[in-house]
Amino acid sequence: MWLEVGKGSDSGVLVTYITSVGPRRIGIMDRRLGVREGKEEANMDAPGEQMTCNEAERCLSCNRPACAVQCPVGVKIREVIGLLRQGDIPGAARKLREDNSLPGVTARLCPQEKLCEGGCILGRRGEPVAIGNIERFIADYERESGAPGLPEIAARTGKSVAILGSGPAGLAAAGDLIQLGHRVRVFEERNEIGGVLAYGIPETLLPREVLRSEVENLRRMGVEFETDSVLGKNAGVDELMGEMGYEAVYVADGGETACNGKRGVFTGGEIAVDADSVIVAMGLGRKAAQGIDEYLRTGLGTRD
Ligand code: SF4
Repeated sequence: MWLEVGKGSDSGVLVTYITSVGPRRIGIMDRRLGVREGKEEANMDAPGEQMTCNEAERCLSCNRPACAVQCPVGVKIREVIGLLRQGDIPGAARKLREDNSLPGVTARLCPQEKLCEGGCILGRRGEPVAIGNIERFIADYERESGAPGLPEIAARTGKSVAILGSGPAGLAAAGDLIQLGHRVRVFEERNEIGGVLAYGIPETLLPREVLRSEVENLRRMGVEFETDSVLGKNAGVDELMGEMGYEAVYVADGGETACNGKRGVFTGGEIAVDADSVIVAMGLGRKAAQGIDEYLRTGLGTRD
């Protein structure tokens, strides 16, 4: 362990800080870049508990954590790391899942060096906290333990939302809306949940076992799934909002739809096409979920 002392400006205030730069952060990011270049397999050598806890100790618990500001889904990274430092891994997983429905997925796919880790203050004078590694450790630990740390679910509102498409945007919206107390059913036209995660990302980057485990956690939280559904092709909005009784529909299939402009029908913007865009699509799914929640509670709210 060695220390580096320096001066810097955090939000305009000149501060003297001591940056812990050792032990060196663990480098899953480097490995992931290697995978993209076809050199390595992404899922070997997952970070161990001791290494991850050492890494968590490097976090400065900043008053204004820039890491979280740069996360497209707004994960409360400082709080997650704080719980991990207390040895509360299930609590850290719960906190992580409050904002991120798919932590095992994003830990493997996110370009953290441009996002949360790119904002980490330690990166100004040394190496940023290996946030992606920490996220992956928490997600893998809970998957292997069989005891997922799931977030609290609000009291039921009695409102129902149908989500058409089970890609990253749809799953992110499903995770948020179920936490807010709404009934959520995801319709997928194919026989596997995940959209681009199931059909577009190679197994070397994202093992299907990880994806299925995340889907199972959403199911445990109460999200319903329907595969091989013609409704997942966006053909049944009228039916969903009519005889099937849904108050809102989120069209998360990424394509242009014929139902834009209908009251209670929300669209999700862009579709994820590769690993880097998964987290962007999830951020759009969260935004759609906020609009849907507002609409369901007040009758107002934007459509997209
Ligand atoms: S910016 Fe870096 S040091 Fe500060 S809270 Fe986030 S991870 Fe910790």
